[in-house]
Amino acid sequence: MQWSTGYNRTAGSIKGKIANCHRVILALKPNQSTKPTPLTSPKEIWMPLPKLSNVNVWIFDLDNTLYPPEARLFDQIQTLMTQYVMRELDVAVATANQLRDQYWRHYGTTLSGLMHEHDIDPAPYLREIHDISLANLTQDRALSQAIRKLPGRKIVYTNGPKFHAERVTQARGLGGIFDVIYGIEHADYRPKPERAAFEQILKQDGSDPNLAAMFEDDARNLSAPHEMGMACVLVGPKPASTLAHIHHQTEDLTDFLTNVLTPGLSRRAEAD
Ligand SMILES: [Mg+2]
Repeated sequence: MQWSTGYNRTAGSIKGKIANCHRVILALKPNQSTKPTPLTSPKEIWMPLPKLSNVNVWIFDLDNTLYPPEARLFDQIQTLMTQYVMRELDVAVATANQLRDQYWRHYGTTLSGLMHEHDIDPAPYLREIHDISLANLTQDRALSQAIRKLPGRKIVYTNGPKFHAERVTQARGLGGIFDVIYGIEHADYRPKPERAAFEQILKQDGSDPNLAAMFEDDARNLSAPHEMGMACVLVGPKPASTLAHIHHQTEDLTDFLTNVLTPGLSRRAEAD
C-alpha cells in the first residue's frame, strides 16, 4: 500500500506533524524496517495525507454522507420499499422486511435483488420509494464552502436515482456545487459495492481512479474503490475492526474537509 512509507511511530518523529496528519488505518509492507508486521495485521498509525493531496476528483456518496444519519431519510425510504415489496410480491410485512434485508446483503441493494429475482422495472420502483419528505434536512453552509474549495471535479455518486440526489443536495444548500451527479441508473442499475459499477461511473466521467477519492458512510462500498486505487474515506463511526480499504475515517465530513484536508492541500499548493 503506497502510504506505508516507513514513518517512525516514535513520539519525536510524530511531534509537530500531528497538525498535518489524520488518523488512518493501513497495512504495512513486509519489508518495512519499523516492525515485522505482516500484511494480514493492519496497524493504526498517524500519517499525513499524501494520496489525498494528489486527488483531483472528489466523489461523494449521498445518503448519510452528505447529510447526517439523524435526518433518518432512510426510514421513509425503507417504509416505502417494504410497501412496494408487500404489494408486488404479495407477501406480509415480516416477509417483505426479511427479503429486503436478504437482497441488501446478497446483491448490495433491495433493487438489485428485485431485478435479479423478480425482474422488476427499476424506474417506477425508484420513483415510488424516493417520494419522501425532506423536511428533516437543513442547509449546510459550512459543508458547501468546504466542498467548493476542493481542487478539481466534485461528483455525487449514489445508489439512489439522480433525481433523489438533486432534491437532497438542493435541500442541503449544496445545489450547483457538483460538476455532475451520477445515480444508479448511470451504472445500468448495478449497485455499489460492485466494482463494475464504480468502473462504469469513472469511465463515463473520464476520470483516473488513481487521482480520485471516495467518501462513503458504508464501509462495504470502499472495498472496490480501494482495489481500483482510489483514496477511501469512511464518513461514519469507526469500524469495530481495522479494515485495509478504509484509509481515513471521520464522523464529521465538514470538519474533515475543513480542518484536516484543506490545510494540507493548501500547504501542498504553496510547496508546489
Ligand atoms: Mg450512503
